[in-house]
This record gives sequence, C-alpha cells and structure tokens, in this order.
Amino acid sequence: MLAPPGAGKGTQASRLAAHLGIAHIASGDLLRREVAAGTPLGEEAAGYLDRGDLVPDALVIGMLREALKRAAAKGGFILDGFPRTLAQAEAAYTLAVTDDLAVDAVIWLEVSEAELRRRMVARAAAEGRSDDTRSVFEHRLAVYAEQTAPLLEFYGNRGVLHKVNGEQSVDEVFADILAILERLDLASS
Ligand code: AMP
Repeated sequence: MLAPPGAGKGTQASRLAAHLGIAHIASGDLLRREVAAGTPLGEEAAGYLDRGDLVPDALVIGMLREALKRAAAKGGFILDGFPRTLAQAEAAYTLAVTDDLAVDAVIWLEVSEAELRRRMVARAAAEGRSDDTRSVFEHRLAVYAEQTAPLLEFYGNRGVLHKVNGEQSVDEVFADILAILERLDLASS
C-alpha cells in the first residue's frame, strides 16, 4: 500500500489482510510498538516519529526483514508504510531476490492534500498520535512528496502500480482494491 499520510492505508491494509487471511505488516505500527516498549530501536526511532521524519532506512529494513520472511512462509503479507524511500524500494527488490519476498502489486491510494488535512484533524481527535499535530502533519506531507512520491514512477516503470481513488468511502475503496487483486489473480471475492 503506497499512500500519503492520512489516506487510509492502515484501514484498508488491515481489512485486506483479514479478508485474504494473510499478515498485515505496518512499519509505522511496528515502530510505535518498539517506542512504547522502550527497546533500543524504539529509543533510536522515537525522535524521528515525533518530528514526522523518516526513520533511517537500515533500521526499518532490519526491523522488517524477519517479519516479512515469517509472513511469506505463511502465505504472504500486506505491506503498509514500506517502502517509503527509493533506497527502501531498492532494498525490497534485493529481498525479493535473496529471500523470495517478491511484491505482486503496489496499490496507490490517491487523496488530495485538502482531504488529507481534513482527515488528519479527525484522526488526531480519535487516536491522539504524537505526529498528528498540524505542523508535524504538514511536515509529513512534505516528506511524502519529496521522498515517497518518487516511488510512483519507480513502480509505474515496473508495471506493478495500481491507482485507486482514495477519496471514496472505505467500502468503495476496499471494493476497488479487491477488484484489482482479483484481476491479478491475487484474491477471490
Ligand atoms: P505511518 O504509521 O505509516 O504513518 O508511519 C508513522 C511514522 O513512522 C512515519 O512518519 C515515520 O517516522 C515512521 N515510519 C513508518 N514507516 C517508515 C518507513 N518505511 N521508513 C521510515 N520511517 C517510517
């Protein structure tokens, strides 16, 4: 799942994983768990999360590698929030070769910045995340535009990118994603 902050990738990824009976691996959730548990990785990552900056690639890749291997052995995974930089995408391709962790499809949820800002206010009230203040959220949008949006071209060039209108209702977005996966023979309804 590739999408700007607040586009609904967490919601859709967890629903999709439940529907398909495979793992939902969310890099942001895993990082927040490390922070809450006070692990060395969590201590290193906390400042980046609070500022809305990306955690260094090596830390994220190291954290995900074993989880991805375990999930792949059990039938697959929905990746939510990773890769988020070109370096991570390159690393993901290396893992695809060395660890048989190929990515079948990249779903891009397209949502306008105005709608993302509106949703951020709602999520801040509901979840109280430290990175949902207005200034940090604006920074996260800028980080997305600068570091993550280039992945659209990266995956587009590889023929695995599928665009979904993320401004529809949760059910409509889910139905569109499922239709794409069915066309690719990756899901049945
Ligand atoms: P998310 O829950 O996906 O919105 O991610 C929340 C925060 O976790 C981001 O703003 C980053 O600080 C960090 N994070 C999550 N995924 C990554 C990643 N793939 N690379 C670097 N930082 C990440």
